[in-house]
Amino acid sequence: MEQIKLSIKQKDYEGSHNKYFKSQIVDRNDLEDFFKSNNYSLITWKIDNKKKDKEYNRGREDATFESASGLVIDIDENLSIKEAKYILEKKEYNYVIITSRNHQKDAMKKGKFSPAQDRYHIVLFFNCDVTDPDEYSSAYSFITRLFPEVDESCKSRDRFLFGSPEDAEYYFWFEGQDIDVDRIEPVSKDFLNTPIAEKKNVFEFDIDREVRLGSGKVVKVKDITTKQPCYCVRPEHYDNNPSAIVSLYEKEDKWVIHCTGCKWTGWSKLTKTEYELNQQMQHFYYLGKDIYEMGIAEDKFFLTKNSEKNFFYTIGAESKDKQESALKNLIKSRRLRTLTRVDYVGNPGIEKSYYSVDQSDGLIKVNIAARGVDVRDNSFIEDYLQDTFGQNKDFIKQYLAMYVYTNYTQLPTLILYGPRGCGKTTFSGLVADIYPSLYHDWSGESSNFSQECEKKLLVIEENLIDEKSQYKTLKKYTGQAFLKVNKKYQPEYMVKNNLNIILISNESIPLYVEKTEKPADPSNNQFFVWEFSSLNKTIDGTFRQKLKERLGHYIRTELKTVFDGINKNYSRYGISVPITKYEEQLFENNTTNIEAQADLVLEKIANRENTFTPDEEEYKLYRDGYLAYTLVEYYATGAVHPNAIIKNLKKRKIIEQGMIRKQKDKKKFNSYKIIKLP
Ligand SMILES: [Zn+2]
Repeated sequence: MEQIKLSIKQKDYEGSHNKYFKSQIVDRNDLEDFFKSNNYSLITWKIDNKKKDKEYNRGREDATFESASGLVIDIDENLSIKEAKYILEKKEYNYVIITSRNHQKDAMKKGKFSPAQDRYHIVLFFNCDVTDPDEYSSAYSFITRLFPEVDESCKSRDRFLFGSPEDAEYYFWFEGQDIDVDRIEPVSKDFLNTPIAEKKNVFEFDIDREVRLGSGKVVKVKDITTKQPCYCVRPEHYDNNPSAIVSLYEKEDKWVIHCTGCKWTGWSKLTKTEYELNQQMQHFYYLGKDIYEMGIAEDKFFLTKNSEKNFFYTIGAESKDKQESALKNLIKSRRLRTLTRVDYVGNPGIEKSYYSVDQSDGLIKVNIAARGVDVRDNSFIEDYLQDTFGQNKDFIKQYLAMYVYTNYTQLPTLILYGPRGCGKTTFSGLVADIYPSLYHDWSGESSNFSQECEKKLLVIEENLIDEKSQYKTLKKYTGQAFLKVNKKYQPEYMVKNNLNIILISNESIPLYVEKTEKPADPSNNQFFVWEFSSLNKTIDGTFRQKLKERLGHYIRTELKTVFDGINKNYSRYGISVPITKYEEQLFENNTTNIEAQADLVLEKIANRENTFTPDEEEYKLYRDGYLAYTLVEYYATGAVHPNAIIKNLKKRKIIEQGMIRKQKDKKKFNSYKIIKLP
């Protein structure tokens, strides 16, 4: 409609002053002034009987809705004006855009800080006045599918807008159509790409569309360079002869198929230039207000923010025209509405790693290829596993098979301990080598760049972190379906947890476990605990390399057979996990137990000191602030070794790390300086 019925009220930013409005018909070309000097709505409310003689006589309420000549969408966040214009023009909607009070200002939105960005109103017009309130609401919902950024509360039927400032930016485009209220239908999948103003006997097609040429050959439209006869591509037209012609129409820079039989003409959705740019831009995406480049380099997926300049340079857009077209096209066809998740999976069935993007859901899936085939010699690895795990070799093979062939199936945590040089890292290295880029050596550093979340294997060196934070880490990574990744220069996103953990330690008390967590049988056991013996044959420097070279073949043959034989529904972890004697010891001799024993020792010392003030040299040292080893040894009765108690006291920062020889009354004692007693 050219003449727009508005509700207006002098501009006044106090919400409560805007109860009553007056109605006025305004020419569409004069809206700017009205939007800058009045509060307004495209809804007209009924005249209030008590106020009918007043100028402002229409009470603004949901129940008094009379008609609407259009609707206004309020955009506060996450959608630039540039983007909104593209969306509207692609859909061929007539529109007016005017920036609102907080445009490009820092603001608070629902109690949260929202940085300066484009904030504006989009005004759309109906092709006739809508008098049915429900019809208005459905028109609103229909339109907001174009703009998921919109707050649903905006659609209420008593809604008005505050006038914009005098210097507000104002844009309009009246070359399309108004919203045809009779044509509002359920959303279709290709909604965004279907113009509402459908022309007669004209259709659009994707450039990947296949056509059968007169010669019988089937080709993709984008490969057509010369004019050729082809069969009609419209499903409605059953074409016995090649009655159509396909060509690249230079003037429009689009492919066209015209059928002389049914008289329909189809145009490619993209121009040739857009298509070619798309090819060059295939690793670029537009997200929020930034350009991102994605890719796989050295088998690792990357996602980095790019400057416009760098983007233009990379795709070879030198002229201003080309740059503008590239940017427009990026926003139009390579826009990620959000980045929801990046999921990493190991895939033994592919030769080369790749990623795929689901633009509408904001989901990226990264498929990482398994190590390739090099040497074909399974017996070498078989022998190694036999020597290392003995009777538990079959379990280890099942574990490896599950690691190779499944994703998101949580495998038991492997706890491997033993003295230095006994081959623990050789084994964890073997597992890591299956998908090298999906492995992370975690030393316990607490950084926010949580890159370990994106991995499939986490190897933790127990000695490097304290037990409580290690316990928390284990719980975090084993208990959650999704993990949040927060990296520098990257948008925050979630990943589906695909982590498995191997914990390696030099000592036999590596885990902070509760006695009550001890598993009852192999089907619900979440730990495989194994002690590596130093008596194992020495592993020379080339051994690890030999394993690596044989791994590709081994996982595709032997482990495939093992995997196919696993009854995947058998238990919680897919495979049953033997409860080793080491695991039983672990639960008996757990950290909570040690901590309790250590506290008991300190308590006994303090009790005797307080009651008797004893004369022994160790107690004199104690009074000086030193804890003698012999004193701990004396009170450490029961299963826990005094060394374990000392270690515990160090970890809890009760005593200092270093041992010192301390003299008292001509006797020398191995002692530790007390930092602070609990
Ligand atoms: Zn036809």
